[in-house]
Amino acid sequence: MIYLDYNASAPIASEVLNTVIEVMSSQIGNADSRTHKYGANSKAIVQSARKSVAGLFAVDPQQVVFTSGATESNNMVIQGLKDYGKQTNKKHIIISSVEHKSVLESARALSKYGFEVETVYPDDSGRVKAENLLERVRPDTLLVGLMHVNNETGIIQPVDQIGKFLKKRGVLFLVDATQSAGKLIDEIQKLDYDFLSFSAHKFQGPQGIGGLILNSDIRLTPLMYGGHQERGYRPGTVPVALCAGLGKACSLALENHLKNQNQLKELKTTVLKVIEDSKVKYSINGDPDYCVDSMINISFDDVSSEALMVLLKGICAVSNGSACTSNEYSLSYVLKSMGLPENQIEEALRMSWGPDTDKNELKKAIADICQIVLGFQ
Ligand code: PMP
Repeated sequence: MIYLDYNASAPIASEVLNTVIEVMSSQIGNADSRTHKYGANSKAIVQSARKSVAGLFAVDPQQVVFTSGATESNNMVIQGLKDYGKQTNKKHIIISSVEHKSVLESARALSKYGFEVETVYPDDSGRVKAENLLERVRPDTLLVGLMHVNNETGIIQPVDQIGKFLKKRGVLFLVDATQSAGKLIDEIQKLDYDFLSFSAHKFQGPQGIGGLILNSDIRLTPLMYGGHQERGYRPGTVPVALCAGLGKACSLALENHLKNQNQLKELKTTVLKVIEDSKVKYSINGDPDYCVDSMINISFDDVSSEALMVLLKGICAVSNGSACTSNEYSLSYVLKSMGLPENQIEEALRMSWGPDTDKNELKKAIADICQIVLGFQ
């Protein structure tokens, strides 16, 4: 059975796992204990991890805040701007309809406090048009939130163009880079943004850690109160081993960037060729020209993805939506807001892989899927 749900969570890389185990079994200190070497050792590990994270994003280590993952990072920004928005009387927020729930729900929560949340929709390409979003910017716009890559479709949003414009206008910009961090490395390094969120487990780091890159002097109101850890943004004992694991995942991503990019491209080409050669009838959801190489979202004509997934149980692990919504089946809000027909949404299947996915196993799984689909068509 091949695992093809990397967008939900990618398997931890063996080097990362070794680092986590090594640190967890050898380091007993709290990174904030000043009075003994155990604390100092843990602190050195966290500092080194912070440097590796900063290296991946080409920022200063001071700009990195460790969090439990992108959900927390997104909430830290959106909820954290509530006081600043009230003080400056900027209460207009623009987000896209295809954002992750951690952005959508967090923004919705602010609307209870007098904030106006405006939603921008993509067209059937899955992409939000930059002009469409930017024409909504007003003098009282506090924040624009747009993901770099969508988790369901793999579509790359025009965050570069939007970032440049917002910087000139002095409007804060949150980029949810959860699906692009560790992958679209050069693109992220060149982006203009104020806040950037990510999770380690999407690029073969450990689950339960991620971060927020701060590129703005504005002081976010912390979600929690407690100690002074993470410059007061995120109180609580820093998870030393997880930080080390994230740091390792970042340095591996940087080191293997070119090799990984080529491998992902080759895997995608292989997948598309097997599908094309099999003569199944299908449509790709989202504009393939703007889709990352690590996944496809595909609808096989006349084959419900729920039914198909039952038959695929021993063959491959795939999904038909994001893991955050897939425990209760409902039609994908992402594909719905792209205006796709209902049957196409019901047929949609997401397959995502990583640089360590075996090409032959992938080829075989896709061929098996197509064989099953042909039986329906
Ligand atoms: N944003 C995006 C685009 C995601 O894909 C995810 C994970 N599905 C998140 C945010 C939240 O990440 P986590 O569950 O690790 O907090």
